[in-house]
Amino acid sequence: MADMTPMMRQYMAVKEQHKDEILFFRLGDFYEMFFDDARLASRELELTLTGKDCGLDERAPMCGVPYHSCENYIARLVEKGYKVAICEQAEDPKLAKGLVKREIVRVVTPGTVIEGSMLDESRNNYLAAVCVRDGQAGVVFADVSTGEAHATLLAGEELDVKLTGELGRFAPREVLFNGGSLALAGVERFARERLGASVTQPQEEAFSPDVAPLCAQFGKPDAAALELDGKEPAVRALNALLAYLRQTQITGLERLNQLDVYSDAQFMRLDLSTRRNLELCETLRGREKRGTLLWVLDRTKTAMGKRLLRAWIEQPLLHPGPITRRLAAVDELFSDAVLREDVMEILDGVHDLERLMTRIVYGTANARELRALAETIGRLPGLKERVAPCKARLLSDIARNIDPLPDLFELITKAVEEDPPVSVREGGLIRPGYHAEIDSLREIMRGGKGFLAEVEAREKEKTGIKNLKIGYNRVFGYYIEVTKSNIAQVPEDYIRKQTLTNCERYITQELKELEGRVLGAQERVVQLEYDVFDGVRRQVAEQLHRIQSTAGALAGLDVLCSFAQAAAMNRYCRPDLGVDGRISIKDGRHPVVEAILSGVPFVPNDTELDMDGDRVAIITGPNMAGKSTYMRQVALITLMAQIGSFVPASAAHIGVVDSIFTRVGASDDLASGQSTFMVEMTEVASILENATQNSLVLLDEIGRGTSTFDGMSIARAVVEHVADLKRCGAKTLFATHYHELTVLEDQLSGVRNYSVAVKKHGEELTFLRRIIPGGADDSYGIEVAKLAGIPARVVTRAREILRELEAGQPVAVPAGRKRAAVEAAPAQMALMNPKAEDVLGRLRGIDANALTPIEALNLLFELCRIA
Ligand code: ADP
Repeated sequence: MADMTPMMRQYMAVKEQHKDEILFFRLGDFYEMFFDDARLASRELELTLTGKDCGLDERAPMCGVPYHSCENYIARLVEKGYKVAICEQAEDPKLAKGLVKREIVRVVTPGTVIEGSMLDESRNNYLAAVCVRDGQAGVVFADVSTGEAHATLLAGEELDVKLTGELGRFAPREVLFNGGSLALAGVERFARERLGASVTQPQEEAFSPDVAPLCAQFGKPDAAALELDGKEPAVRALNALLAYLRQTQITGLERLNQLDVYSDAQFMRLDLSTRRNLELCETLRGREKRGTLLWVLDRTKTAMGKRLLRAWIEQPLLHPGPITRRLAAVDELFSDAVLREDVMEILDGVHDLERLMTRIVYGTANARELRALAETIGRLPGLKERVAPCKARLLSDIARNIDPLPDLFELITKAVEEDPPVSVREGGLIRPGYHAEIDSLREIMRGGKGFLAEVEAREKEKTGIKNLKIGYNRVFGYYIEVTKSNIAQVPEDYIRKQTLTNCERYITQELKELEGRVLGAQERVVQLEYDVFDGVRRQVAEQLHRIQSTAGALAGLDVLCSFAQAAAMNRYCRPDLGVDGRISIKDGRHPVVEAILSGVPFVPNDTELDMDGDRVAIITGPNMAGKSTYMRQVALITLMAQIGSFVPASAAHIGVVDSIFTRVGASDDLASGQSTFMVEMTEVASILENATQNSLVLLDEIGRGTSTFDGMSIARAVVEHVADLKRCGAKTLFATHYHELTVLEDQLSGVRNYSVAVKKHGEELTFLRRIIPGGADDSYGIEVAKLAGIPARVVTRAREILRELEAGQPVAVPAGRKRAAVEAAPAQMALMNPKAEDVLGRLRGIDANALTPIEALNLLFELCRIA
């Protein structure tokens, strides 16, 4: 260290404080990185690695990025999960005596980004903190780009499942865990691997139980006012989160001013695999928006609306009251198409007030952004007026919460130029007439220029040099230029400054004075404009609360309107909500499949599930018939109703469900190294453990990952469990290829058979897509295999084998294909099979009348094993 240059020693001192981050060290017009940071950044960003003399024998590895395009580089590093510490020059290098002072102004981490270019406008960017102590978990999610924070306390059994459920719902980009939460098996891995979040473990002291900092942050007198009384782990998690923000954001923390303390009992329970299986906000394959429920419902016009819509879809409500209030608002906007279109048209030009406000509070918003704010504010009075007469309570509440902000509109439109430049450091920001000194300085500049023209004309006249002209360059300032041929006429008082090939440049005393005045005014006006602009920005920032509640109202209106518009475009109906445990859907459709099917009409189907009646539907039918589509459509319609949306049906009554569980399709957890069957069973185990009478469960082909008999036994035992009101009693849709399970309809109360109708003409199969009562008579597996393009010879052979199996015959190998050893075996052996005797013997010892169904099934398995 001692041998290093002073600048390098300064670098090392800063780096010492930021070992975990990549340090962007400002040197003039560049941010430079050194040593390991340089090697890493050059690799990740494909930058050339160079070296810098640092006083040591070897040059320090170095690479850099220009300061004006740094955002893009930072974004790429943060996207890859790195953290970037930005170290700026804290004084003007021109004025600095000796080494320029430098300090860290911000640490950019995945969960603390505020730059628009690094954020997806349609989703929140959450930083989470989790504190587990004494069997309770405090969980906090904050989005610094919008200023919102959500906190909850989880307790009771299966804390790990509840925790992953909450993390899955908010999908944070970054999570801070305390020691206790890291000790909970699987939670940290879930965040890292399933959510792709970056994970940090702050010092345990950061998880302080002191409520005072929280009261200060959220402007509340005590824990009770914060609704955090008795929720110590949540207080601790919030403190750790704020401490982390203080370390990374340095300024602007006052933006985080809204705390919403919620209970996980407020929302429908959906685990991550159910969210994914139902393709709520991203598809299973590809993780895209197209093909999801969000995609069908999103007719929003604003970024705020898009984020809120996503949040509503991720957290369906449980109580009919608030749901019905949303539905009433959607109904009014649905029925009154003119109102809906007017509202959508006004919303269409509304900017992202939440993120604009963040930049205004942080002092990074430019003049264009302030104008964008004004433009949005200009739309508010019209919107308020349009919505105020609405009858639905939610809509009139929204109208009331829209503050037309006339004072801010006037302030910005009077002060800020209509079409200002991007930079706030080069003038041109403030409108004439707003600030007297700016106006007079501009007058001097303008006057100066007019004066220059006057001087030029006068000097021409005085010297008789016709082509004399006044010019300007950065080195000499204003000068008089005379071509070589006219030099003889140059007066005495001209001072020669520069000789060029065919002309000479001079200055005069008068010109120098003028220059001082003009340039002084220009410099002054640029600084003054910035200061005045900054003042306006601060005045706007002070009105944060008013703008924020307006932003919230606009987001809500946008989502309700989006629901109404989607309902109108897709022929949805208003569902009727209840708490009777009954789901009754007439002509239900799958919202996404029907939107994707082009040309082919979607075949609607009814659904009747009742907690007190038929609650388990066993659905059989060939592959590709439409079983999973049907099951998902029931889940999606239920979920849509509980977020307050209309539903794809001709009529629907939805008794609210507390949770939806799914075990469908391939699991996306194969990376964990478990076998498919193991993953399937783990998920089934969790469903059986957690589903209640008020849950909705979808099970698709349980048990297919093992041998037929194992699989069938498991499947049957699962149906017996869920159908049992004392043990579970969840409304269940159960798709299966085990036709044997259809006997349960007669044996267990609450179980009904359904199948998907198909028509067979000869060997051709037509899918009718209709769900009808009764079990299917056949799986038509071979026909479906044929449809899928299995070669004709294999299909024909499969039919042959099937015929032999159905006739109870051993499958014969086609002539000419037998193995030598098989050929040698005497053909009669099969007739005198000793196993047949064993089976007969076992059967003779049975009293068939005394057998329970499960014993009979077990016996059957046993016999099959013998055979
Ligand atoms: P299964 O689960 O029985 O194998 P799927 O539910 O995957 O079958 O359905 C297969 C395809 O059939 C779907 O991708 C969809 O295109 C079409 N389909 C399913 N249900 C319907 C329906 N009710 N109306 C029209 N097409 C349907």
